[in-house]
Amino acid sequence: MKLILLGAPGAGKGTQAEVICEELKIPAISTGNIIREAVKNGTPMGAKAKTYMEKGALVPDDVVIGIIKERLVQDDCKGGFILDGFPRTVPQAEALDAMGVAIDRVVEISVPDEAIEKRLGGRRVCGSCGSSYHMEHKPPKQEGVCDKCGGELILRKDDQPETIRDRLKVYHDQTEPLKDFYQGKGILRVVDGQAGIENTTKQVLAALEA
Ligand code: AMP
Repeated sequence: MKLILLGAPGAGKGTQAEVICEELKIPAISTGNIIREAVKNGTPMGAKAKTYMEKGALVPDDVVIGIIKERLVQDDCKGGFILDGFPRTVPQAEALDAMGVAIDRVVEISVPDEAIEKRLGGRRVCGSCGSSYHMEHKPPKQEGVCDKCGGELILRKDDQPETIRDRLKVYHDQTEPLKDFYQGKGILRVVDGQAGIENTTKQVLAALEA
């Protein structure tokens, strides 16, 4: 299964990817997590990406396409993968096609903008492993500490209210056209991202069969 999770920032792509990758035994690949890790480690790619990311803009296509090219040739991707946060522009989707990657299913997790704005302020991510939490909807067992690795939970710089609005605009302008792109290939399915985490997972899994 080669799956793309599509949806606005905060729609729940990361949360669903974490559950579904265990269910299907395939890796979940988040370009956002890869870029945050590079920023943290001060690599040249991280230095290039940092300013775009912090203001809520997209990192240039060539950088992100390079990241994905390197990642998808790794052994663990042979049996399939889940892409969370890639592609985010039509040229990125075209790059996947050009690489010969045949995507089986694209699932859009649909959440209205008003709900996204409320959600993102409560989001916390692990500074070490990138796992996602929400203070209300998915709290960690111990406040401020990642259940999975014990890392510190942080509020992302780009989850500040001002940046959230910019990111939603970027989503509508640059990423939403992908819905038509994949609809045209007949592989797009849409699920309700406000049904609760477990129900959304059920819908995503059902969408893989349908
Ligand atoms: P995310 O964790 O998916 O919300 O991504 C956080 C930020 O990383 C985005 O706002 C972008 O600045 C950058 N980013 C992640 N994935 C991509 C992508 N496919 N194309 C461009 N920028 C990306």
